[in-house]
Amino acid sequence: MNAPLSKPESPFLPSLPFLPFALPEIGEEEIAEVVDALRSGWVTTGPKTRRFEDDFRAFLGDPGLHAIAVNSATAGLHLALEALGIGAGDEVITTTHTFTATAEVVRYLGADVKLVDIDPATLNIDVAAVEAAITPRTKAIMPVHYAGLAADMPALLALAQRHGLKVVEDAAHALPTTVAGRLVGTLASDATVFSFYANKTITTGEGGMLVTRDAALAQRARTMRLHGMNRDAFDRFTAKVPSWYYEVVAPGFKYNLTDIAAALGIHQLRRAHDFQKKRVALAAAYDEALAGLPLVLPPRAPAGELHAWHLYVVRLAEGAAIHRDRFIERLFDAGIGCSVHYIPLHLHPYWRERYALKPEAFPHSQHAYERMVSLPLYTRMDLPDVRRVAAAVRAALA
Ligand SMILES: *Cc1c(COP(=O)(O)O)cnc(C)c1O
Repeated sequence: MNAPLSKPESPFLPSLPFLPFALPEIGEEEIAEVVDALRSGWVTTGPKTRRFEDDFRAFLGDPGLHAIAVNSATAGLHLALEALGIGAGDEVITTTHTFTATAEVVRYLGADVKLVDIDPATLNIDVAAVEAAITPRTKAIMPVHYAGLAADMPALLALAQRHGLKVVEDAAHALPTTVAGRLVGTLASDATVFSFYANKTITTGEGGMLVTRDAALAQRARTMRLHGMNRDAFDRFTAKVPSWYYEVVAPGFKYNLTDIAAALGIHQLRRAHDFQKKRVALAAAYDEALAGLPLVLPPRAPAGELHAWHLYVVRLAEGAAIHRDRFIERLFDAGIGCSVHYIPLHLHPYWRERYALKPEAFPHSQHAYERMVSLPLYTRMDLPDVRRVAAAVRAALA
């Protein structure tokens, strides 16, 4: 169905095909749906966005949920916290081992971020560290399902309930991921936000989905998604009596998803479970091909649970005779793109200086960061690609 496009060539090694770190898999159905949006005359938020939202709720399989399409996960996280009333004087706890988007939205609202360390086994937020960071100002916890492996949601939700805290899941990596057999997005948190950025497990180029069972939160997020207007353009022009009239009830944002992007999402979502199976197979092939090397391989999901495998992150073991940076250079020289997820927030100038953070306060994140490499993992790879990466890893470690 998807004749893979030829992989880009490295400018440095023109004779070898370069294996990029990430590539989206866009099929003919996605392309036809985008063309349909373009020909329809409705290119901004409209019927395809509605359908994508409905499909997303059906995908999660829980009729009690609301799904609100937005133009990024960052926008969705911002809308969720805004709707929960987070503001100046409040504190929100999240992991230092994440992308800056998770934390920046807290600052948009004038609230403060409390960064905490990770569990070195899973690289997910450490529940004991969250508990230790709670103060009378704490209002919410934002777990991240790092790499697509679920954070310890039962413990986090119980902790939040004991302390009267809100929970907003950053599920940018977690489609589809399960906890006790339930998909992330259907758990008992206040809101869950998915990302459809170019390198995520499904993509709309840019885009995100805010999911909640709280009707008031959903209503507020829908309004704030589009300038604080109480009716969107599609509503106004498709109502029984088309109307130019709307009211602005708050100073909202411009966070709506376009129908061009939603057209991609409709078909990407249909393939999400097949994509996940392919990622599982590639991860298993890596595990096998890398066994016995001085590497800490990524943690697996508990038996029976889905791991979205957004990332395949290895860590150089204590016995590895090479520095991480040199290791990445050697892989690049072998024509393989790698990345690091993440430079922890406590090392970035803004967060470090704003909160006077020291690496010693985050020993597990710091240690993992210094030794970690994300290897290529995406559905357009095949088993020979995995073997090629594994051979390059073996050579780089030798
Ligand atoms: C990608 C990502 C985001 C931001 O997603 P966008 O859709 O690009 O806004 C947030 N958090 C994490 C952990 C991510 O990986």
